[in-house]
Amino acid sequence: MSAIKHDWTREEIKEIYELPIMELVYRAATVHRKFHDPNTVQVSTLLSIKTGGCPEDCGYCPQAARYHTDVEGNDLMSVQQVKAQALRAKSSGSSRVCMGAAWRNVKDGPEFDQVLEMVRTINKLDMEVCCTLGMITEQQAKRLAEAGLYAYNHNLDTSEDYYKEVISTRAYQDRLDTIDNVRKTNVTVCSGGIIGMGESVDDRVGMLVALAHLDPQPESVPINALVAVEGTPMETNEPVSIWEMVRMVATTRIVMPNTQVRLSAGRTEMSAEGQAFCFLAGANSIFAGDKLLTTPNPDINEDMELFKSLGLNFQKPFVKAPQPTTVEAEQSELEPLGEKPKWTRPSHKIERNELARNKN
Ligand code: SF4
Repeated sequence: MSAIKHDWTREEIKEIYELPIMELVYRAATVHRKFHDPNTVQVSTLLSIKTGGCPEDCGYCPQAARYHTDVEGNDLMSVQQVKAQALRAKSSGSSRVCMGAAWRNVKDGPEFDQVLEMVRTINKLDMEVCCTLGMITEQQAKRLAEAGLYAYNHNLDTSEDYYKEVISTRAYQDRLDTIDNVRKTNVTVCSGGIIGMGESVDDRVGMLVALAHLDPQPESVPINALVAVEGTPMETNEPVSIWEMVRMVATTRIVMPNTQVRLSAGRTEMSAEGQAFCFLAGANSIFAGDKLLTTPNPDINEDMELFKSLGLNFQKPFVKAPQPTTVEAEQSELEPLGEKPKWTRPSHKIERNELARNKN
């Protein structure tokens, strides 16, 4: 297998992003075939295990408590509820369950212990388990790893420059620090971003530079198209075109050849042909299930139809990394430290976030 290039410059990545589409897709498809089976797609199911009421101010997110959206919050799901959903996901072809909680950061205590139990339970179903719980410390990453976590998701969202226009309640460096904490364990990293938030092409490129420079590069990179939800600061944003999605997917594939590139939010707005173009351009993972946390996603039957029409196969679990071993809670060698980490709170003002917050 070829060595992975990490020292991509902005100029190099921008040049790729701006290639004529046919040339770009051809190059991406060529890289894709070298590193992956082009007819196999990994399918993940995303479960919102704790919805809404989040103290953060991410400008794209309907779960932020400060915005006036229709999202109904709920408490942390039980282990049994999660197990039932995981079994359903497995029977419809998913190899991974990704559990999302609308938290700023993980706090040691009964709720985190419950999430650890969910991780143990799903790993024992021989499915890959991913969590997205906000910022975590090294010790918390170790506890998740010990429970059998396969992947941790923590998106960079956009470039470092544009991040300040999207979120004021934490800094880009906090994201990088959490990814670094995950990297101190055997848990794989899932980190990507969102296009359509009003960012420039240079911001998209900037995010890809940041991700491509990580060593190792993330094992999984979700590419989301903004779903503009009423009540959020980005409610009136124009949808991104399919060609922007194709460009982003293809460029990601070229600069991070070994990564699973995941077509994430925004698939409901894409035609079957548009999605097929993205698969050709190097996407090899999707989220299945009729909801992505709180926003709509294609029906599982539609996805099955699409897979059938395109002759795509489901990727089996643990192809990219071995299944972790689960250590039971009573055998754990790691004590909760009750840490109170000082994550940044830059708290500069973002006008559109303030407007959305103050809306009646
Ligand atoms: S994206 Fe996550 S951290 Fe940001 S407001 Fe939504 S739930 Fe909270």
